[in-house]
Amino acid sequence: MSLDILINLIYIVSAILFIYGLKMLSSPATARRGNFISAIGMFLAVVTTLINKEVVDFQWIVLGFVIGAVIGAFAARLIAMTQMPEMVALFNGFGGIASLLVGWGVYHSGPSVDSLTITTIFLSILIGGVTFSGSLIAFAKLSEIIGGKPTLFPGQKVFNVLILIAIIAAGVLFIISPVSSYDILIAIIVLSLILGVLAVIPIGGADMPVVISLLNSYSGLAACAAGFVIQNNILIVSGALVGASGIILTKIMCKAMNRSLSNVLFSGFGATTTGKGGKQEGEVKPIVAEDAYYILEAASSVAFVPGYGLAVAQAQHVVRELGDLLEANGAEVYYAIHPVAGRMPGHMNVLLAEANVPYDKLYEMDDINPIMNTVDVAVVIGANDVVNPAARHDEESPIFGMPIINVDYAKTVFVLKRSMAAGFAGIGNELFFAPNTRMLFGDAKASISAVVAEFKES
Ligand code: NDP
Repeated sequence: MSLDILINLIYIVSAILFIYGLKMLSSPATARRGNFISAIGMFLAVVTTLINKEVVDFQWIVLGFVIGAVIGAFAARLIAMTQMPEMVALFNGFGGIASLLVGWGVYHSGPSVDSLTITTIFLSILIGGVTFSGSLIAFAKLSEIIGGKPTLFPGQKVFNVLILIAIIAAGVLFIISPVSSYDILIAIIVLSLILGVLAVIPIGGADMPVVISLLNSYSGLAACAAGFVIQNNILIVSGALVGASGIILTKIMCKAMNRSLSNVLFSGFGATTTGKGGKQEGEVKPIVAEDAYYILEAASSVAFVPGYGLAVAQAQHVVRELGDLLEANGAEVYYAIHPVAGRMPGHMNVLLAEANVPYDKLYEMDDINPIMNTVDVAVVIGANDVVNPAARHDEESPIFGMPIINVDYAKTVFVLKRSMAAGFAGIGNELFFAPNTRMLFGDAKASISAVVAEFKES
């Protein structure tokens, strides 16, 4: 068997491992194994490529593997669960910059490139650049280095269109005459970085999930283009897989928010609306853990509705403990998950899986909402935007039209948070003033631990 055939066979095995791993990621029960299987596929692909292209000697591959594994293991240990979303944003950005550098590097290595290669160089630099700078802005928004609010300025849309036209014009010139176009290539790099920033700054509030998944898809498309540049089959395949799965995720996120992709990307949504999150009138009724215990003790059905605050408080283990106590007390317990709760797709699933909450107790929004009016107590744990009733009726609200978990339909609602502060979308929440709502102020882990203590003492 020739070396070429062997290499391509290994690439096919890698591709099968990627696809199989991706499929396993679709269920929390198999996701960890899926991740591991995909990682083996990537390991095979990288090592095979390095050996095949004689990029580095074997001992350097081993050294790189050891150093990379140590850095990866430390990063995985050091990064708090609450920092995962911004880490995902950075990963997307790294994918983008890698593709940009591959395109740039190949241009340097041989100016006599054919027009197909030069087109793919243009694409990998363009998509890679947009992904890199856009992801850095998403990272800054998610880690609250810059505000989450949309940034708009007069003439923004016209300016964006002009930049786009300039990129297309530069791209055409570059493809027609690549050898003498180094300055144009630099201009394309700079313009694509600017475009990435401009594409993400007007998106804010509750729309960030769509941007994160879209940037994920872009990083795949950039890698796919880079794969064509260096004619590497497995890079083309893996890039296409990331690109396609990112687009599917984007579609799921758009559906979860009841918005079209073009509406999210081009409306500068959030900045021009005046809605504050519904009527902020009525009385806020605080309770303490002991009162919460008496109500929960008498409840025959309880729905936990976690949000970003669950991740901040790291309350997943005590929530599970309280859930077990409630079940032992004869109550039916549900864990209701909104698709955009938290700061990354699947955020709540990951946290609850970590606390070994059984998967059959997890209810998606469409499954819990029809039975919410039969639930005795809905316990909102650090969730805010995803339970804001303004989304149903306040046309002025930035989140109007987004399906929410209808906790206000439950007989009683407990809201566990530290203050009256807004969530990611930056708007108030009329739920806190509803007649059937009780506010249990404090860190969610401390509040639930106090309720658990009441159960244990009784
Ligand atoms: P929100 O951001 O709306 O609200 C979180 C709430 O948690 C805050 O109001 C905060 O109130 C509370 N909180 C924070 N820390 C604690 C703590 N230690 N203990 C108790 N409460 C705490 O979260 P949701 O999950 O409801 O909504 C997610 C939002 O993020 C949506 O707008 C979504 O669009 C957006 N988003 C989602 C992404 C995704 O992929 N899932 C990605 C990017 C953005 P207080 O400070 O008073 O405690």
